[in-house]
Amino acid sequence: MRWASRIPKYIKSQQRFNPINTKYTIEIIRQIKIMSEDTLFTKIVNRQIPADILFQDERVTAFRDINPQAPCHILIVPNKPIPSVNQVRPEDEAVLGYLFIVARNLAVQQGISAAGYRLIINCGDNGGQEVYHLHMHLLGGKRIGRMVTGS
Ligand code: 5GP
Repeated sequence: MRWASRIPKYIKSQQRFNPINTKYTIEIIRQIKIMSEDTLFTKIVNRQIPADILFQDERVTAFRDINPQAPCHILIVPNKPIPSVNQVRPEDEAVLGYLFIVARNLAVQQGISAAGYRLIINCGDNGGQEVYHLHMHLLGGKRIGRMVTGS
C-alpha cells in the first residue's frame, strides 16, 4: 500500500518528541489513520461522492462548498491529498501556486473578479480547519468584510 511506505519516514520525523509520550503516540496514530483513509475531498475528486464540480484537471479540482458562506463559495483542492499547510513540502510548491491561478480564473468565470473576493486556507484547530485535505476557499459575490469574525 502506498500510504504504508510513508509511515517509517513520518515516525522518524516525530523523533524530536519523546516516542513513549502518550500524547504524541496518539497523534502519530491519528496521522497514520488520516494518511491511510481517503479524505472526503479525495472522494469528491474521484467522483465517488457528488459535488458541484466547476473545474478539474490532473492537478486540481474546484467545487461549490456544501454550506456556502457567500453567494459564491468555491473550494479549490489539490487532487493530491496534502492534509494541511503543516504537511506542505517543497515539491508541493507548483501545485500550491497553481491553486491561485485556478482561483483567479474561477473568479473571472463567476463574475466576481472586478468587485473582489477573499481567498482563505484554514490550518489546524485554531485555524478552523474541518476537512484535513488542504483546500483554498474562494468567497465572493458580496462584501466579505475585513479579516476575521469572532465566530
Ligand atoms: P475548512 O473548515 O476545513 O477550511 O473547510 C471545509 C469546508 O468543506 C467547509 O466550508 C464545509 O462547508 C465544506 N464541506 C464539508 N463537507 C462537504 C461536502 O461533502 N461537500 C462539499 N461540497 N463541501 C463540504
